[in-house]
Amino acid sequence: MSKKTNTTFTMIKPDAFKDGNSGEILAMIEKAGFRIVAGKVTQLSLEKAGEFYAVHSQRPFYKDLCAYMSSGPIFAAILEGQNAVERYRKLIGATDPKNAEEGTIRKKFARSIEANAVHGSDSDENADIESAFFFSSFEQFSAK
Ligand code: GDP
Repeated sequence: MSKKTNTTFTMIKPDAFKDGNSGEILAMIEKAGFRIVAGKVTQLSLEKAGEFYAVHSQRPFYKDLCAYMSSGPIFAAILEGQNAVERYRKLIGATDPKNAEEGTIRKKFARSIEANAVHGSDSDENADIESAFFFSSFEQFSAK
């Protein structure tokens, strides 16, 4: 398996960051066997949030989502691990925390379907696009 198929992208969203849950979320990520190979605190502008979520531009919640995602600092990171995209989606749980399983990050920390604590890429292709949106390859380190 190439390195490409072994990374995913995540954001600790403004609600979870503001609530001071970043440390606990990163601990869950590391305990699940992922390595953090890039990471930074940053804040999206409204315009950048719109770009990041362009795929949802026709959805009714798009405007609210962009306002929310640009409302405060986030922690953006690239995670490395076996089958990273699929395993990380399992670890974060369902979009709506009401449907998220016990032991998932969203079950523990999400406030609502919108303020749902974390983002996780949904495909290898999007993991690469989203990682590049926040980090240059120069800023990424393999921990192997
Ligand atoms: P994800 O892959 O589980 O993050 O879910 P999606 O790609 O479908 O949606 C992207 C993000 O939009 C979610 O993580 C939520 O923050 C937000 N979102 C999704 N569905 C809804 C909704 O029905 N209402 C609102 N307000 N936000 C939503």
